[in-house]
Amino acid sequence: MAPRPAAPAFDVAARFAAGAQYIGGRLRAGGSGRFQTVVDPATGADVLRYELASTADVDEAVAAAAAAYPGWSAATPGERSDALHRFAAVLAAQAGDLAYAESLQCGKPIRLTTEFDVPGTIDNTAFFAGAARHLQGQAAAEYSGDHTSYVRREPLGVIGSIAPWNYPLQMAAWKVLPAIAAGNTIVLKPSELTPLTALMFARAATEAGIPDGVVNVVSGAGRDAGEHLVGHPGVVMTSFTGSTAVGRRVAEVATAGVKRLHLELGGKAPFVVFDDADLQAAVHGAVAASLINTGQDCTAATRAYVQRPLHDAFVAGVAELMAAVRLGDPMDPATDLGPLISYAQRDRVAAFVERARESGARIVTGGRIPEGLKGAYYEPTLIADAAQDSEVVQSEIFGPVLAVLPFDTDDEGLALANDTPYGLAASAWTRDVYRAGRATRELRAGCVWVNDHIPIISEMPHGGSKASGYGKDMSVYSFEEYTQIKHVMQDTSGAVHKPWHRTIFAL
Ligand code: NAD
Repeated sequence: MAPRPAAPAFDVAARFAAGAQYIGGRLRAGGSGRFQTVVDPATGADVLRYELASTADVDEAVAAAAAAYPGWSAATPGERSDALHRFAAVLAAQAGDLAYAESLQCGKPIRLTTEFDVPGTIDNTAFFAGAARHLQGQAAAEYSGDHTSYVRREPLGVIGSIAPWNYPLQMAAWKVLPAIAAGNTIVLKPSELTPLTALMFARAATEAGIPDGVVNVVSGAGRDAGEHLVGHPGVVMTSFTGSTAVGRRVAEVATAGVKRLHLELGGKAPFVVFDDADLQAAVHGAVAASLINTGQDCTAATRAYVQRPLHDAFVAGVAELMAAVRLGDPMDPATDLGPLISYAQRDRVAAFVERARESGARIVTGGRIPEGLKGAYYEPTLIADAAQDSEVVQSEIFGPVLAVLPFDTDDEGLALANDTPYGLAASAWTRDVYRAGRATRELRAGCVWVNDHIPIISEMPHGGSKASGYGKDMSVYSFEEYTQIKHVMQDTSGAVHKPWHRTIFAL
């Protein structure tokens, strides 16, 4: 591999010398007695060894968030907005360090972190700085004739959030920003594999003047610190992003405590190409959308359904483009594709592809661990002739693997696209406005793209349906998760005997 260049490296061990917990505005060590190592998946080298959070650390973080809540929830929307604007500016000033740390702990190409993860996070922060002043509701009115009714949109209290490893910075932002913009305080548990940028994000909040305890990060294991956070009596709501399997467990624990719940779970996004589509646009779109973040993206294109007249040309075009993708050092701006998050994840992906091969599917390109690269790399892989009910079509692989299947009628294509347990994202490729309209109506997913697949924007919601969960990240819709509506009904008549008293007094 070429020597590591461009990124503005900093000394990770020195930056986190105090530990990998951020509680009450202070970085400190965990107290579980168990240690975790952050590993650079591009080389296998250790990046940081840290002590995981104990349940007592979680208690302390929840207490810090609870102590910060009265002041933060009483701040005016304008004050919270000002703080979030400053937060966006601090993040922008640290953009290079954030991109470096994100690439280092995830193996993401520096081009991806520099052009997507970090600017997306800054934009999200700026968006919520504005949105903090625009909490909306129904107009006040005299609906009964004798009262003025209005709604108060109020924060909930201390939020407990749990995030995955695939977009650690963006997931921290998606969880923290709507929660604090609405006046809540938060304890976030990032994935134990990738705590660095969530900690830097929390530290930046403090540098921006957001009071201590409003944003806390506990870097701990899912089974103990994670479950303890979800079940904690001081936490009113859990917002979880991760796999559907863990989401089920989180839901059990949260439900037992009668907690509000927001679940962003797995995906298996279909990519439906009708026979009038722009073939070259669809081919390029499929390669980019299936390989982004090395396929470790819950909305990544994973199943391409291509109407029969275009099927073979689509397979040939995608295979050719995939083969040209450059794997390499994530810190090299010329690199297109980095490694998977870990050797374990790479082996899991490789096992999926092997089982597909054994079941008679055709590996058109890729399907191997590349030679000469030390990290957790896997070749971009295109699979044809897999059955609709096979594992590579039905299960989330979370790697650089795309399956392609043909269809004949529009009815069939849309039915196949809807035929998995998931419902997070989907795309339709056509130049026919009526086909596009039908697809957007009938595809069962939280997001449907037309002639594109992947882009997200701060102003619009992200979230799933079916086994992909419920609730929304980003946009003003996320305030529905992080606020509660209180109806206030105030008598305007001053009467002692009110008309409805007849039900009791028979006046
Ligand atoms: P994961 O479910 O293994 O872990 C997610 C988080 O849950 C981690 O922080 C982990 O420590 C924690 N956790 C594990 N067990 C727990 C428990 N018993 N109680 C509480 N917390 C627990 O997911 P992952 O492997 O980190 O991430 C990949 C998954 O995330 C994929 O399934 C992907 O589709 C999903 N994801 C979904 C979205 C979305 O918006 N829908 C976005 C990104 C990732």
